[in-house]
Amino acid sequence: MDTTPQTEARDTDEAPCPVCDGTGETSATVRVGRKRRVAGHQSGLCLNCFGTGTAPTS
Ligand SMILES: [Zn+2]
Repeated sequence: MDTTPQTEARDTDEAPCPVCDGTGETSATVRVGRKRRVAGHQSGLCLNCFGTGTAPTS
């Protein structure tokens, strides 16, 4: 029953990116081999906001 206050996410008028949740990074699952075995996870730049953490407006 935790309620997370959303106070510090607003530095600008732009809304936080819904994909990376404003962090600017996303975690992707790395698969290898024919059977697509999961080799692990890696974090990368969010391709939705390009690492800015804010949702593109236009
Ligand atoms: Zn993003």
